[in-house]
Amino acid sequence: MNEQHIFIVRCGEVALKGMNKPYFERMLAERIRKLLKRKFADFEVKRQEGLIFVRADKSYEKEEIIREISKVFGVASISPAVEAEPALDAIGEAAVAYMKEAIEERGIQTFKVKAKRADKNFPVKSPEIGRIIGAKILIGCKVLRVDVNHPDCLLFVDVRHDKAYIYQDKIAGFGGLPLGTNGKGMSLLSGGIDSPVATWMMAKRGMMIEAIHFHSYPYTSQRAQEKVEELARIVATYCGRFKMHVINLLPIQEQIVQNCPEEETTILVRRFMMRIAEKVAGETGCGMLITGENLGQVASQTAEALVVTDASVKMPVMRPLIALDKVDIMDKAREIGTYETSIQPYEDCCTVFLPKHPVTKPRLERILESESRLDCETLIADAAASRETIDIKPE
Ligand code: ATP
Ligand code: MG
Repeated sequence: MNEQHIFIVRCGEVALKGMNKPYFERMLAERIRKLLKRKFADFEVKRQEGLIFVRADKSYEKEEIIREISKVFGVASISPAVEAEPALDAIGEAAVAYMKEAIEERGIQTFKVKAKRADKNFPVKSPEIGRIIGAKILIGCKVLRVDVNHPDCLLFVDVRHDKAYIYQDKIAGFGGLPLGTNGKGMSLLSGGIDSPVATWMMAKRGMMIEAIHFHSYPYTSQRAQEKVEELARIVATYCGRFKMHVINLLPIQEQIVQNCPEEETTILVRRFMMRIAEKVAGETGCGMLITGENLGQVASQTAEALVVTDASVKMPVMRPLIALDKVDIMDKAREIGTYETSIQPYEDCCTVFLPKHPVTKPRLERILESESRLDCETLIADAAASRETIDIKPE
């Protein structure tokens, strides 16, 4: 058996990128390296014939390595594999050893071999390889039978130029595209369920992330901010280390409360958030904004409210959750590990001056009229300049 863990990593959509394929593969291999380096010292990531091979010291937990690799965007699937010389005898021996382990560990009784050869110069054709290796397994493991329809173990044999690989499972990754292949976005990150998921979804398409969070200290607590930092760290386990800008929105909220109609508070606050985010984004090289907004979920997210919010900025606003149902967003949050933190009950700055009857169908002219009573430009510039920037590192 091998001295090292070997993993075959398949690139999903990355493989479809034609001319750019080598670039995407390189980025993907680089991301895998970066992520593994945080936890492991002795490993190697190599690109070969459209696949990525990860080898790591046998003393590491196999499951832990798989968990880490599967977090890398662009990974379609992972298979723990064993390696053999590309000759039928050597493959047969390795296959028998592999099956003996499977019998011992999982008590399998039936199997089927599915072979393929990436090396078309290999003298034996795929179906024949399958039959020969199957026969060797039957001789080597007397307790096993062949079952072509419902085998306990479907064993893949993949014969390549310099080695052959034997594996069974294909563990699904998240797919998507490697980070750094699609620009940088400024994510408006609250402590809620939605915005961490929205951030994650954009990062999954290869976008680098920067985040901005608004609080209303002392109306919102230090603990509420720590919760957001905690969420950001979870997101960072997927999208890598990033910057989070933290801004106290209270001076602006007070101006709004003193000068504008109460029922417009929420929408006015949201427009300020967007404009401040746009300003910071412009200064930090982000090309778009990202929010967790969702059509119809709350009063500030009716179609009319979204139009009025959107009109506050020129920068494109990505709303990856716009058409999802809440239950699906919650499922995603559980899957990526943000849900439990998101549901901790801490106050958010949006809830500090919550109007009793918020306008659900705001009209842009009226909102602009209300804003004309404020020195918006100065308020936005001051807020952006007052930001504190935190370095978010993966958990
Ligand atoms: P979430 O679950 O993301 O908090 P939500 O359902 O509570 O969303 P809103 O409060 O209307 O909805 O916020 C809509 C979006 O505005 C959020 O998804 C987020 O992108 C942004 N946002 C809201 N509050 C904040 C905040 N305090 N700091 C930064 N962004 C915020
Ligand atoms: Mg919220």
